[in-house]
Amino acid sequence: MCELAFSRTEFLLKSFPLDRKRQLPKEVELSVLVIGGAGYIGSHAAHALKRKGYEVIIYDNLSTGHTSLADGFELVVGDTSDTVKLATLLRRVDSVMHFAAHAYVGESVSHPRKYFHNNLVAGLSLLDAVLDSKVRKFIFSSTCAVYGNPVTIPIAEETPRLPVNPYGASKLAFEHALEAYDRAYGLRFVSFRYFNASGADETGQIGEIHNPETHLIPAAFEAIHGERGVLEIYGDDYPTPDGTCIRDYIHVNDLAEAHVLGLEHLHGGKSAELNLGTGKGNSVREVISTIERISGREVPKRVSPRRPGDPAKLVADPTRAEKLLSWNATRSLEDIVSTAWKWSQNRHRTTSTN
Ligand code: UDP
Repeated sequence: MCELAFSRTEFLLKSFPLDRKRQLPKEVELSVLVIGGAGYIGSHAAHALKRKGYEVIIYDNLSTGHTSLADGFELVVGDTSDTVKLATLLRRVDSVMHFAAHAYVGESVSHPRKYFHNNLVAGLSLLDAVLDSKVRKFIFSSTCAVYGNPVTIPIAEETPRLPVNPYGASKLAFEHALEAYDRAYGLRFVSFRYFNASGADETGQIGEIHNPETHLIPAAFEAIHGERGVLEIYGDDYPTPDGTCIRDYIHVNDLAEAHVLGLEHLHGGKSAELNLGTGKGNSVREVISTIERISGREVPKRVSPRRPGDPAKLVADPTRAEKLLSWNATRSLEDIVSTAWKWSQNRHRTTSTN
């Protein structure tokens, strides 16, 4: 029964090659289990899939996810280690996207057990549940933290993977498992190594919610709204033009769209490991001045000591993803800041009236 349904999907995809600018052909009903779909990047990917005509089931243990980010979707609450619950759901889908992970670099240094357990051990339970099902397409949320402190910028995928913290190490170990499972069992995967995911959906309905908030852009908005004292600028003595760190900020919907294309690539394509970034870098001061210009508000700020573990500059070379997926990041830093500002105003309004 499942076998038949699977081959019909493959047949339909061959008969109706996908035009990326259009919806899927009506006859093709593809369904995706989005693990961690009630989180920041997962929820944007779920929406991008839905816009392209996919059926989506969100699976999340809500430890850091939010039901509000899964509004409009079937939400099943469960852990990635719950293979019994997963087995039932895997019968209903053709592919899996896996976003569920802990992602605070600093916390991973002080609490590595939590990171290896959740990101690696529980992740492997999920991967084995997938192997025990008919699903053979898997999209993985990886990170540029797998590269550590590379000497050559921009960073291409051939750069040696030498993570410098347990977060990056846990993601790298999972990438190694994916590579071995591909070779041995034919599990096809795309591992996306994100640079600085930021911004929010253009509707203002979903966006970033972290507690505590450690990321630059939402932290700056918290300072504007008076929800934190001041924004600390972590060091202005780096070897960069204005002394502050440079990062490659990529809009979350550019990431989300790449995930849909990654899935489409796996209908016949080989496994791949791809950087997702813009190829351009902005300094902390440039980001702050863009925030001040777009919001019309001053960010209360002060220069503080460097944050341990922050490299001076991290910028992607996204050429491989651009070529393989016919994709590129189309949204600018201004788009990132204006969508994140809209989202933060909506959130601030809701929390201050509650
Ligand atoms: N940053 C900062 N103040 C903050 C948060 C971040 O100066 O409150 C800097 C941080 O040192 C880094 C950049 O902003 O250079 C981006 O940091 P973020 O935590 O957003 O992402 P990361 O690059 O660590 O993944």
